[in-house]
Amino acid sequence: MIVEPKVKGFICTTAHPAGCEESVRRQIAYCKEKGKAEGPKKVLVIGASTGYGLGSRIAVTYAYGADTMGVSFEREAKGKRTATAGWYNTKAFEKLAREDGYYARSFNGDGFSREMKDQVIEAIRQDWGKADLVVYSMAAPRRTLADGTTVSSVLKTVGEEFTNKTIDLKTNEITEVTVPVADEEEIQNTIRVMGGEDWQEWIRALVEADVLADNASTVAYSYIGPAVTHAIYKDGTIGQAKKHLYETSRNMTKEFAHKGLQAYVSVNKALVTQSSAAIPIVPLYISLLYKIMKEEGLHEGCIEQMYRLFADKFVTKETDAEGYFRLDDWELQDKVQERIDAVWDRVTTENIKELGDIEGYWEDFYQMFGFHYDNVDYSEDVEI
Ligand code: NAD
Repeated sequence: MIVEPKVKGFICTTAHPAGCEESVRRQIAYCKEKGKAEGPKKVLVIGASTGYGLGSRIAVTYAYGADTMGVSFEREAKGKRTATAGWYNTKAFEKLAREDGYYARSFNGDGFSREMKDQVIEAIRQDWGKADLVVYSMAAPRRTLADGTTVSSVLKTVGEEFTNKTIDLKTNEITEVTVPVADEEEIQNTIRVMGGEDWQEWIRALVEADVLADNASTVAYSYIGPAVTHAIYKDGTIGQAKKHLYETSRNMTKEFAHKGLQAYVSVNKALVTQSSAAIPIVPLYISLLYKIMKEEGLHEGCIEQMYRLFADKFVTKETDAEGYFRLDDWELQDKVQERIDAVWDRVTTENIKELGDIEGYWEDFYQMFGFHYDNVDYSEDVEI
């Protein structure tokens, strides 16, 4: 079948299998070129199929030479409907990693569920004995709880509504958006979906089943960003969930001190992923950021960020005063943020192409779904 992109707002409903393989291949090539580092050898990645989780899985495999298990929630192809990008990425990763002699086993299903936790525990017990690093990179719109009820996360403000510029991803026009205020229930639900509760349930389940090694580590991801995004991110509903994630990391390090567990949060850079495209204001900020960081020679994608995390900061345990890994260090440099401040008020539909890297934004967007790779022949039939 010939597969073409079908973009609807901030999502593409098709994915290209050969393009997704190319994406994984390039990420692997980057890590191979950068070289090895000393680190954990049995790594479980939860949320492993796209974005930061996929980058983590590739980085630990090729930097540490680690065996990996990956959990994700992706859709298989059906009839003429392609699978999701994460599905193809996972297949491609397994194939390429195994060709290079690495163990890679993947699980597709709801990571929030007890059943998935039990399946993974059984696999660790049988294949590894114990895991020594758990990466938690799940980003989900909703979560089904143990009692069967489903709660959804929202991207809203806390306290008062917030109006600012955004980009309409359907038309590339700069418009204004007013982000509404969340009520208490929405805040609590967002915390349950995107906070640390499920991360802690995973770690507890692994410890109770005795499949987590002594002195193991776990890391989950967060974002802070500059003032212009605070109302919608850091101080908004998603930020409340991230606060819960920080508290969870501290609580887990205490709770499992007898095991020597270290629970970390890594604060990463703003990047185009399926999750970040859904947040108002953030895509406009990202397109300005890309332009400036590329000009300053500071731009990184998921794989560059995750390689830097695992080959560098995680090895030397270089954290800030609060104990977080700061992969947003380059994004938040004064010379970058001062340039964002200087253009933010001026940016319009007419000058966005000049002030921002809108092309770079869309290139990353299409490539996330396996499109726009110059060495993939999209006119060829592919098996979906
Ligand atoms: P993403 O959408 O690319 O990846 C999400 C992953 O979660 C996928 O592998 C998906 O299959 C998996 N997933 C979703 N629901 C699941 C479920 N029910 N069960 C199992 N797996 C499930 O997202 P991302 O942007 O890479 O985000 C990962 C983490 O990084 C999040 O915590 C996010 O807040 C954080 N982060 C993102 C950015 C950014 O700009 N994108 C910046 C900093 C931090």
